[in-house]
Amino acid sequence: MESAHHRAAVELRHVTRLYGAKHTGVAALDDVSLSCPAGSWTAIMGPSGSGKSTLLQCAAGLDQVTSGRVMLAGHDITAAPDSALTELRRRTVGFVFQSFNLIGSLTAEQNVAFPAKLAGVRVSKSDIREALAGVGLDGRAGHRPRELSGGQQQRVAIARAMIARPAVLFADEPTGALDSASTKLVLELLRAMVRTVGQTIVMVTHDPAVAASADTVVFLADGRIVDRVDRPAIHEVAGRLARLES
Ligand code: ADP
Repeated sequence: MESAHHRAAVELRHVTRLYGAKHTGVAALDDVSLSCPAGSWTAIMGPSGSGKSTLLQCAAGLDQVTSGRVMLAGHDITAAPDSALTELRRRTVGFVFQSFNLIGSLTAEQNVAFPAKLAGVRVSKSDIREALAGVGLDGRAGHRPRELSGGQQQRVAIARAMIARPAVLFADEPTGALDSASTKLVLELLRAMVRTVGQTIVMVTHDPAVAASADTVVFLADGRIVDRVDRPAIHEVAGRLARLES
């Protein structure tokens, strides 16, 4: 049997996602195949409307594909019932968004604990402190989001996503709202997670400098994968993106 180590953490096989009425509908994804090995960091780029969000949603089991298969952390989630999917997502997937999505009335540590609490899972105080320390915020556990910088808020969101030790972290423009110093810190943090805990990251970004932090950049246009760069350099990513947007 294939060992978990070599298995893809995220795999899309010939995935098509049509929106709207059959035949007249838009193919947000059109026969997309993508394999993200465990412990890898993949950036998804492409012009607006090219299918980036749809890819992330389908890969995370938040959206149903029209045809093709989706494997997540070794599970075929293509036709999984909602209840099973919710449970699998809770155990294996973390999300980080551009807008942080923290709850303003809760402290950093309460925000980190919140999704687990919602799911009825106990997390210890020390786990929470450890998660915050892991993102360099051990001194900020009692702070509310408005008392934190954007970069610090995003690091709280990363701690919140990581507390369940998910196999895959999905990130949608995680640095989109951050200044360059905070962006650098968040990217270093994501890289450290890939290196030290073997985290798998799938990230949508429009910023070539951010995409260049990933191991691989995949380019979408009109719902299809049209290009791919391994060990990306910023200028190369920028050049290929410009060609797609022209
Ligand atoms: P991106 O994230 O690259 O901007 P999206 O995945 O959001 O692209 O969208 C891809 C295509 O699918 C676009 O043409 C968009 O208009 C269409 N689309 C996305 N979501 C829906 C939806 N819920 N209903 C209808 N069309 C949609």
